[in-house]
Amino acid sequence: MPSLFENAVASIRMGVEDFRQQDHDRDISAVRNFYAGVLLLAKEALIRSAPNADPQHVIGAKFKPVPDGSGGVEMSQVGHTTIDFRAIGERAQDFGVALDGKALKALNEIRNDMEHHYTSEPSTAIRAAISKGFPVAASLFRQMEEDPIALLGEAWTTMLDTKELYDQELREARATLAKIRWYSPSISPEFVKCTACQSELVEQIDGENDTQAIAELRCKTCGSDVEMVDVIEQVLEAVYGAEAYLRHKDVSEPGPIYDCRACGHSTLVESENGCGYCNEPLDYVRECRRCEAGISVQDYYEGLDEGLCSYCSHIWYKMMKED
Ligand SMILES: [Zn+2]
Ligand SMILES: [Zn+2]
Ligand SMILES: [Zn+2]
Repeated sequence: MPSLFENAVASIRMGVEDFRQQDHDRDISAVRNFYAGVLLLAKEALIRSAPNADPQHVIGAKFKPVPDGSGGVEMSQVGHTTIDFRAIGERAQDFGVALDGKALKALNEIRNDMEHHYTSEPSTAIRAAISKGFPVAASLFRQMEEDPIALLGEAWTTMLDTKELYDQELREARATLAKIRWYSPSISPEFVKCTACQSELVEQIDGENDTQAIAELRCKTCGSDVEMVDVIEQVLEAVYGAEAYLRHKDVSEPGPIYDCRACGHSTLVESENGCGYCNEPLDYVRECRRCEAGISVQDYYEGLDEGLCSYCSHIWYKMMKED
């Protein structure tokens, strides 16, 4: 027999598949399946929040007191009915499970109208109510530390195509990135993209970690692990790529992005104090001691860093030869 959780996932998948078809008859089926799935998922979240309890006691609807044989009473479940929509909301509050009651209520009302073979809601309203339910399901998966990409597959992609879920997931993903103290001041969460699918929904797996060196990133759209070094290179390229192109084209000069000598990646920006990936400091005298012109990273790298700019070291070299 499939578990409650498996049933929940199957119903949600079916509901989203109906939703994807964009056909009015399928919308009705979408509400039915998706709503049933979310309620099952909420029940599963309640059960998991009280792991030592008898699951039937957590989601049972009716209890009665019976004598316990030693002068007291114990509560005994009456029948096998489980809690309905309204009671799930109340119990979620008691058990500390976050549940968006408003979004669920809209789905519940449409579904009830349908059961009476009547709904005055146009198709767009039905679809809007379903898409508002997507973040509810996503939030329950997250609270249970279950992976919706693996569980829902294509259905997850369909859900992410709606603004309601996309916006929520983006907000949460970026909040995890905002915790990181980035080595490069050019990196900011809005620039981070999945290197496999270009999705912006990249999250830090440990949403509390603030250390870049140990941060692990993951794409919430395709599920890929995202390598930190690829992200840093990609962001720096997005920020400084055009400038690098113009420099190369107009004056045939390298920069402002350089290969870091410590880690070998293109993650060093000349105006910054160190490598954006490995944090190796870039400290050398940046002003020529003879003419006060700036000394480029390239000159420094080429060993022309006797405190002179490339022009002055050229003059100096010539003088040495003439002597
Ligand atoms: Zn991706
Ligand atoms: Zn480096
Ligand atoms: Zn100089």
